[in-house]
Formats: sequence, C-alpha cells, structure tokens
Amino acid sequence: MPLSRLRYPVNALRGRRYPEPRHPYRNEFQRDRDRIVHARAFRRLEDKTQVFGERLSDHFRNRLTHTIEVSQIARTLAAALGLDEDFTEALALAHDIGHPPFAHAGEEALDHQMRAFGDRFDHNLHALHIVEDFELRYARFPGLNLTFEVREGMVKHSRDFQPGERAEFDAYLPGQRPPLEAQLIDLADEVAYNTADLDDGFSAELFTMADIAAAVPHYGELTEEIAFQFPSAPQKVLFQEVLRRLIDLLASGLIEGTLASVESSGVQSIEDIRRHPERLVRMTAVPAETNRALKHFLMERVYSTPPLVAERHIACEGIARLFAFFLAHPAELPETHRERIESHPLHRVVCDYIAGMTDGFFRRTATRLLP
Ligand code: MG
Repeated sequence: MPLSRLRYPVNALRGRRYPEPRHPYRNEFQRDRDRIVHARAFRRLEDKTQVFGERLSDHFRNRLTHTIEVSQIARTLAAALGLDEDFTEALALAHDIGHPPFAHAGEEALDHQMRAFGDRFDHNLHALHIVEDFELRYARFPGLNLTFEVREGMVKHSRDFQPGERAEFDAYLPGQRPPLEAQLIDLADEVAYNTADLDDGFSAELFTMADIAAAVPHYGELTEEIAFQFPSAPQKVLFQEVLRRLIDLLASGLIEGTLASVESSGVQSIEDIRRHPERLVRMTAVPAETNRALKHFLMERVYSTPPLVAERHIACEGIARLFAFFLAHPAELPETHRERIESHPLHRVVCDYIAGMTDGFFRRTATRLLP
C-alpha cells in the first residue's frame, strides 16, 4: 500500500494513562473505537443538531449520522492510503463528541457566556474532558482511559497548537503535527459535511441544481454527463447520482493530494511527519477549488438563510437564559455537577453541564426551569 511505511504502529503506542492488560483479540485502537461507541456522550449525538434543526425534516443529518458519514469516508481514505483504519475510525467517531446542543450556534453562545468570565468554551477541550473525566464506566479509573494517540488526535482535530497555548494541551506534543490518520479527519469531516449539507439544503428546496452548477466548478459537467446517461431519471435521483460523484471527486482529490505532498515532502517516518512544518493531508488543486466554492455556496444559500439564522438566534437566547439561571440557582444543578463546584469555578460547571445536553434535554430543562 502506498503509505504503509507511515501507518501508525499499533504495537508501539505510548499507551494508556492507567495500564491495562491486553485484550486477546482486539488491538488497542479497536478497543478505543469500541469504548467511544459505548460512551454515553456518543449516544447523545443522536439528538444534537448538525445544521438543520428537527423542525424541518426527518431526513436531515443529526450529529450522529454525520459522525457515521465522516467515519465511512475517513476509513475509505485510510484504506486507500495504507494507513491504520481502526485508528482513523476511532478518531472519526470521537471527532464531534464534545459538541454542545444546537450546533455551531450553541458553541458560539457558550463561548460568549464564558468570555464574560475571561474563560473560553472549546469543543475539542470539552471532548477531552468527556473521555478523561465525565464518562464513568470503569471502577479503576475515571473516563475511558483511551490511548495517548487517540487523545492527541482528538485535541488536534482541527488545528495544531504551540507550547503554552493552552495548559491542558501541553501534554499532547505541542508544536508537532499529529500522525496522518489524525490529519485525515478534519478533511474527511469537510468532505462529509459539505456534500451532506448540499443534500439537505437541496431537500429543503433552498436552491436548485442549476444554482449549484452556476457557483461550483465541475458540478455542471457532472450533471450534464448524468443527464445524458439517464435522460428520464427524476431530478431527485439525478441529484443523488451527481452528489455521489462529487463525494468521489473530493475523496479522490484527497488521496492524490496526500500522496503527492508526502512524496514531495520527503518524509520517511512518523517522526518526520511530526516534525514537518505543515500537515501533509491535502487535496489536489482542482478538487480543492470545487470544495472551496461548495463551502462558499453553502454559506450563502444555506447557513445564512432566514430559517437557519432564526434557529440560531433562538438557540443563543435559550443558552444565555439557562446559563444565567444556573449561575443564580446552582442548587438546581444535578448532584454530580454540584459536587464539582468545590473544585471548579461555577461558570465552568454550568458550561460543562449545558455542553453535555442534547437539544431535546436542553428544551425540556429550559421549559421546566425558566419562567
Ligand atoms: Mg464534524
């Protein structure tokens, strides 16, 4: 396989914080993947908004189905490149586990509340706290006791950081690039959500195929090819035929781009990848252009349209009100969260509690507690 020399060696891991005996037939990455799938925070993804809230349709992605799509795309890429599929899968399944309710609006709203205290909300850091502390499933240790490599991949999900940037991240090789398996996740995530949001936006009738063709390079050519091949296919089916090829175009671009950048960088080992000044997973120029245009199109025709802006506004207001309520009435927090007030500032405890909520639990709690 093309990059198998750069595949992360599952038998030479830095290991777990609390040593554990080996499993007879699952390797360490497979165990991490299974621990993530069995976590409560993973199941909560089912009732967290991805982009479209529940009121619009039953077929839209939620954060769980989005996660499964990222995992499928990332595993395909890892297999094609000769990288470790289990490592990649574990990271893909964990990549959104720290997301609060109500998608990016929820994240921004929580961050906004925390800034009033000179603090921040960061979903990658929250994800780390979930797998390190909040999941209570083992008698011998808190959290899931994941391998160093999976935790590192989680905190470096979307960006690298420098020493001292965040004290909590200093244990995770600051200033160094993560392994290729971890580098794959951010771009697999982009391919998954750009194409999925296009699909959901089309179902919601926010735009037509002609609108996409006018804005996104190659979309028009793909559409003409398919329409010529299947002249009597209904529009909805044509859309799916084109969408599939679009995913393929972006994924293939990622495979070729990564092979080319690894080749030209001259890296020979995992150590070289870590010390390389930039990440090596990337798309070739033409698909990258399509991807950028797609992003821009979605920004204009989906994310900033009145129904989505209205949903975000409601979410931000709701979070501000519930946050203020718990600050004023800490006795209303559940016991396990109340106990944390002794060792953490109240605003942090409130933030972590709200961040863990599903959209549905948030609504029920707000209805019960707010005037
Ligand atoms: Mg994601």
